[in-house]
Amino acid sequence: MSEKSERRSALFYEQKNGYDLINEAERAACTEYCEGYKRYLDSAMTEREAVQSAIELAEKEGFVAYEPGMKLKAGDKVYCSNRGKSLLLAVIGKKTMDAGCVIEAAHVDSPRLDLKQLPLYESDELAYFKTHYYGGIKKYQWAAIPLELHGVVALRDGSVVNVVIGHDAQDPQFVITDLLPHLAADQMKRTPGDIITGEGLNLLIGSVPDAEEGKDRVKLAVIELLNEKYGITEEDFLSAELSAVPAFPTRDIGLDRSLIGGYGHDDRACAYAELRAIMDVREPERTCVCILADKEEIGSEGVSGMQSEAFEVFIEDICREQGVALRHCFAKSFCVSADVCNAFDPNFPEVSEKRNNAKINYGLGICKFTGSRGKGGSNDASAEVVAYLRKVFAEAGVVWQMAELGKVDQGGGGTVAKFMAERNIDTIDAGVPVLSMHAPYETVSKFDCYMTYKGMLAVYSDK
Ligand code: MN
Ligand code: MN
Repeated sequence: MSEKSERRSALFYEQKNGYDLINEAERAACTEYCEGYKRYLDSAMTEREAVQSAIELAEKEGFVAYEPGMKLKAGDKVYCSNRGKSLLLAVIGKKTMDAGCVIEAAHVDSPRLDLKQLPLYESDELAYFKTHYYGGIKKYQWAAIPLELHGVVALRDGSVVNVVIGHDAQDPQFVITDLLPHLAADQMKRTPGDIITGEGLNLLIGSVPDAEEGKDRVKLAVIELLNEKYGITEEDFLSAELSAVPAFPTRDIGLDRSLIGGYGHDDRACAYAELRAIMDVREPERTCVCILADKEEIGSEGVSGMQSEAFEVFIEDICREQGVALRHCFAKSFCVSADVCNAFDPNFPEVSEKRNNAKINYGLGICKFTGSRGKGGSNDASAEVVAYLRKVFAEAGVVWQMAELGKVDQGGGGTVAKFMAERNIDTIDAGVPVLSMHAPYETVSKFDCYMTYKGMLAVYSDK
């Protein structure tokens, strides 16, 4: 190396493609990790399923359901399900809670089409479900693709019926029809937000009329089918949470199989990374907490969202057993808001500022801030917090990159980060860069997923 290039390498910050930085053994570890992630993603089409699958994985690793007042010692592993819609897991550290805990918070809800409370109707001898979309979607992307139905119907007697239709290869699926291009002259003049309207997102669910004479014979025939299979009547939809989600099984993408296509990488790619990490951490110094939150896509609202006190209740219980005040624990705690960021897309370079946008295969993306315009609505992590992560990642061989959500004034977004920071917890965003984020079929890189896991494990393992 010439003197000049040594000076350059000493002074310049240069990023490298992740594949130039790992050896064969680590490539194999990456592939193996991603096989586990693909299985998890396929088992987690809704927040409830994501929580249930996470509990099953955690129980195999020795996590037990937390009971208030439980005596916990270092190394104990517990979990607490918040109404089956969000999940808190903890591995008790050697230090007491006044040293703070290490929190990683991802979300397991993803954009989807929820059924309305009175969804079922017949029009022109076809039966439909009306939907109300959840989260930020481009509505036109949800037409003319196969959809599955997942969720629960809660009955008056207190029992809850689980519904999954379309996930098994033998199951029927559903679709929202789109207009043929031959007759779309007027449709194509509409603005993209109205190409398919909110009230146009109607799920086609049947077409055969019942033999009984009268009105709504197709509707009668489909509710009969639901009644036979699930014991429900039309009134039971009033207390149901049913969602239409894309019927796209997780698959490798690319001739080199380096990418993963699937529904809900946002944010199950990070949820799985931190879940795997808390299952793999050994004898942590500080108590590790893994959060799989609900309702992030609609502002972290509600009883199962990150603004809910369910989080305080769980942590406070652990603190109380050790005689520590919750607010003293929070003040010393550290939180990674583990959420995906946008990956630079060469098909749409105009929305990104390339120098600061996350790139595919450059590793875990760190967002110092999110928000929009002048960083409005953002948790802007302090320089000290970023420096701390630089140290942890360097020591653990984590490949990572800075990630900014597009050009200034191009748009913006938020995560659970600010709700953690409001609790007086130092918080920073970190996650997997995603292509086609919030589309029914999103794409991530295996390398970035694996490095996100490594990063999450490094943070939990830090002494
Ligand atoms: Mn997200
Ligand atoms: Mn999102």
